[in-house]
Amino acid sequence: MTRRRPLELRARLAALESSGVWLRPRQEMIHRIKGTQDLLPGQIEKWQFLEQKARDLFARYGYSEIRTPIFEETELFSRSIGTETDIVQKEMYTFIDKGEKSLTLRPEGTAPVVRACIENNLFAGSGATKLFYMGPMFRYERPQKGRFRQFYQIGAEVLGSDSPDVDAEVIEMLVQFLQEVEILSYQVQINSIGCHQCRPQYLAALREKIAGILPRLCGDCNRRAATNPLRVLDCKVEEDQPYINTLPSTVDSLCEVCRDHFLAVRKALEKQEIRYQINSRLVRGLDYYEKTTFEITSDHLGAQNALVGGGRYDGLSQCIGGPEVCGFGFALGQERFVLALPEKDYSGGRLQIYLAPLGPECSEYAVALAARLRRQGVPTFLEFESRSLKAQLRQADRLGIPFALIFGLDELQRKEIQCRNMRTGSQTAISSDIESLLGWIRTRE
Ligand code: AMP
Repeated sequence: MTRRRPLELRARLAALESSGVWLRPRQEMIHRIKGTQDLLPGQIEKWQFLEQKARDLFARYGYSEIRTPIFEETELFSRSIGTETDIVQKEMYTFIDKGEKSLTLRPEGTAPVVRACIENNLFAGSGATKLFYMGPMFRYERPQKGRFRQFYQIGAEVLGSDSPDVDAEVIEMLVQFLQEVEILSYQVQINSIGCHQCRPQYLAALREKIAGILPRLCGDCNRRAATNPLRVLDCKVEEDQPYINTLPSTVDSLCEVCRDHFLAVRKALEKQEIRYQINSRLVRGLDYYEKTTFEITSDHLGAQNALVGGGRYDGLSQCIGGPEVCGFGFALGQERFVLALPEKDYSGGRLQIYLAPLGPECSEYAVALAARLRRQGVPTFLEFESRSLKAQLRQADRLGIPFALIFGLDELQRKEIQCRNMRTGSQTAISSDIESLLGWIRTRE
């Protein structure tokens, strides 16, 4: 039975292929897939900036990088995220590979990291394991501002400690990250959604209350009421809000352990002077969370206002067949951070020198000089085609390169090079030996 679907799928794909449906005229342009982006020079610098800042900061808090595969067994996600969640029900890119295995492009990073820790025995040492990751995730969602089908997350996980200080330290690290990338307008929202001890009782009470208002709620709420009632609290439909506001809140229904944990997290945040709001409707869309959940939002992002989401997932490891290991983590959406970054120049390692040989006779010298400058760490641009001086200087200008080194055969015979400041247009003759050139360049840095 389980082998039938892949065979059917294959047969359908083969039929499509042989029917020629996929063959379009050669001249027809093939476009990128809806919900994906090409990250181009001029934009990518913001992405690199965020990644560099994250690496620097996470290292200061003792995190090491981990890279897991982009696809995993489908069951890893269905078991951990939850079969009734939107992600698993509607959003996963799932396919059958040639070995007839059901695989899924990762919709999130936590389950793969925990799987990798179990498989590589990373829990073996004493104390907490701190890991971070960055990379693309895939969800078949309706694309809009700040929401893509391939999006990039930077995330971190702390495994092996149930201390509330972990929760607070992670949130404090994120607040520090926001400071360091100069996103100064944001709100930290926290909640506790209880644990396997207290949640069943809460869910029973919630179900009962929802039943009373069900006819007034939207279609999604009606569906979720049966499958995943906690997500009813997450409903964004305007007309539903007055009714949803009457539902019992998770924080009022916590067991003693969860209540103490939540209080301790709040105290630790207050000690660090981190301002937060309690949002008792913050349940997150993944089933593995328990106790603390949190989000960091920004008012400047429109409907998709969550910059960061995360929480505690003490049962996740066991749920995917591992030992009992507590965990806490977050993922931030890079696209949304890029939208929220202040406008400024993010280009770091800019080209510094444009080589302008005058005529093909000088090109051999130019190639050798470019190689020497680059080996000395000077970012140098050399055009492959022979061009007039005017065209070369125009190109240097367009590329925003601040200095040009100009030389023809005459200059080279005199062992000289004309060094031009592209901004002012002033030009000086400098001896063509590498030391003099480097000296001139360095005094301009
Ligand atoms: P989640 O993995 O759902 O907890 O989301 C964590 C963060 O990832 C969110 O706060 C967003 O910043 C980002 N994110 C989630 N889904 C998307 C998406 N489809 N497109 C862009 N960013 C997303």
